[in-house]
Amino acid sequence: MDKGHSYFELLDAFKGSGCPICTLVLKDSRRYLDHLLYESVLDLPTRVELIGSFGFCSWHTWQIPSLPPICSPSTGYSIFASDLLRKFNSLAQEFTLKLKEKRGLLSLFAKISPGSLHIKDKACPACHHVAQFESYHLNALADSIGDEQFLEAYRASQGICLPHFFLLEKNYSAHPNFPLLLELQTAKSGSLRTTLEEFIRKQDHRFQKEVTQAEAKAWKVAMEFVAGKPGVFTNEMGHGLLEKSRKEKISPEKISLALAPFDKLTFEELIDEVKTSKEITLYLKRPLPAFLFKELRELNSREVHPKIEVVVEGLSDSRYLGSLHSAGFSIFYGLGLPSQSFIFLGRNRGFLLESHQLSGGHNLRPIKEPEDVYFRLLWRRFGVAVLLSGSIRETDKDKRIFCLIAEGRRQQWCRFKDADTKELPEVGTHVEVFAWEKWNTHILEVLELRVLEAEGQRAP
Ligand SMILES: [Zn+2]
Ligand SMILES: [Zn+2]
Repeated sequence: MDKGHSYFELLDAFKGSGCPICTLVLKDSRRYLDHLLYESVLDLPTRVELIGSFGFCSWHTWQIPSLPPICSPSTGYSIFASDLLRKFNSLAQEFTLKLKEKRGLLSLFAKISPGSLHIKDKACPACHHVAQFESYHLNALADSIGDEQFLEAYRASQGICLPHFFLLEKNYSAHPNFPLLLELQTAKSGSLRTTLEEFIRKQDHRFQKEVTQAEAKAWKVAMEFVAGKPGVFTNEMGHGLLEKSRKEKISPEKISLALAPFDKLTFEELIDEVKTSKEITLYLKRPLPAFLFKELRELNSREVHPKIEVVVEGLSDSRYLGSLHSAGFSIFYGLGLPSQSFIFLGRNRGFLLESHQLSGGHNLRPIKEPEDVYFRLLWRRFGVAVLLSGSIRETDKDKRIFCLIAEGRRQQWCRFKDADTKELPEVGTHVEVFAWEKWNTHILEVLELRVLEAEGQRAP
């Protein structure tokens, strides 16, 4: 028999009190959270996953305060919670609008539902992780119980809880060792029942002094035997948020299916609409058609102008990004955008910008459910472009990063986007940097650096 890692973990868990599988599930949960808070708090995929699952389940959330101080549970959880609250507030704002729209209808047809908040579309990642380990341990238990030394240690332990036994029965009833496991479980159950009955019998005042220590705590042992350790198995109040929202998930790549097929719009019409919009949002994986960029830039130079936000992905031309920035647009770093460009005027009007590679022409198609798409895309922003100036305070040649004392900021570590090919600037130089401030790291990713002057040359 192959004695894997779980074999030895189980042997160790047999020495503790209560169900060894519950013990390992708790240990794995803690290890997972420990690692996540220690290593991955600012890690982008982790945060994206936690936004999708709307954080951890209640059980795992309440394990966080007991993590060791080195994991800084307070800071880590603050970061996650802040992401979640931002998500909630935005969704709630959208929902308020929907409610207002439907209020008229609602008064006529009381049963029309305004939909739901769609807060959660994935299971708790800690549960997901731990459930895999739980199966691994149950499998090892079934495989190893025939091993003499293992069996002896198991007999001396309190044995697995009944909920874990039912899981074992569900998945391993055909296993050659299952009859032995069933026999062991029945024996544990029988002896626990005998102890409980002795305890009950001795409640008679004549025998009260005879209650042994084992009998006195048998009711607590029975609790764990019948129901597992606290939190490992769910309650039955049906508070799961997952089921309802899963149905309504939509992937950005499927968005084009939601288009009205023949409802095209001319660019003149779009530009007319743009002029009266308060908020314009663009999602781009390729540069905008030049005439549209020109119109938007002109619009933005007026005294009263809309707020223009551009979310880009994969646009590596830093000059182009710089031109969007100097046109006064706010530039965001996008991840997972649809392959085509999208234009939103406010939240309720959205267009797909189609580009024809052969003719070089473009056309616009309105999106059927713009608000929904607007919202799904809102979560695709993972950083913002910034322009900072200041002087170089120090450089780290090994890590290929440099520290900038920028106006209004204490100090800012930076790294060139193409760090291998660029020379680090001299300490004391006064520079201007155009950079990505990504939300998963404190180090800026510099797209362009311009030397303004060396310190010695500055006017006194
Ligand atoms: Zn258990
Ligand atoms: Zn969980």
